Amino acid sequence: MLKIGLTGGIGCGKTTVCRLFAELGVPVVDADLIARSLVEPGQPALQAIVQAFGTEILQADGSLDRAKLRQAIFSDPEQRRRLDGIMHPLVYARIAADVAALQAAYCLIAVPLLLESKNPYAVDRILVVDCPQSAQIERVVTRDKLSAEQAQAIVASQMPRPQRLARADDVIDNSAGPEQLAEQVKSLHNSYIFLATARTP
Ligand code: ATP
Repeated sequence: MLKIGLTGGIGCGKTTVCRLFAELGVPVVDADLIARSLVEPGQPALQAIVQAFGTEILQADGSLDRAKLRQAIFSDPEQRRRLDGIMHPLVYARIAADVAALQAAYCLIAVPLLLESKNPYAVDRILVVDCPQSAQIERVVTRDKLSAEQAQAIVASQMPRPQRLARADDVIDNSAGPEQLAEQVKSLHNSYIFLATARTP
């Protein structure tokens, strides 16, 4: 099965693009959703996080206080490494298991930090969802109720756009509206089906 790694900066439209592929019947394995499920109460990842960061990152009901955890790691690389050390192996393992269970010509594996990680995902192609930084910031501000400065700081902490684009095999330009986006997804879908079929012995 052809594996397409989908990535892009914050707010560039990864989730939106995944939904469009899913509507075409393409299986999508989403690292963010997996990470969320792994920190549900009772899951081993949550226990490990509490051991590392203390019970103050829990809410009163015992669930993870994401805002607090985000705060703890945002400006502290050491703490971020600690969290990554807990989460990454578990997320990789679950992605691999989910992909192995699929029956399809190709699948999408959506990983926001695909290019920042050491790429243990063994994807066949990298698809980057891209938009200008101004649109990215505007969308994040609207969606997450952040200030422009906060959104800017997150964008600045991620891989620079030219570097990300240089690593892409395919790019979706999400600077315009939904029709242009759907057109690009359809066209890529056809290419991926073609590539997947050509590879099959
Ligand atoms: P994150 O990195 O935070 O997970 P993302 O890359 O998954 O973000 P989306 O959530 O798909 O990005 O999109 C970010 C926001 O921008 C959403 O509110 C979405 O509805 C909106 N959006 C996506 N594409 C467009 C577009 N072409 N025009 C206007 N708004 C858009």
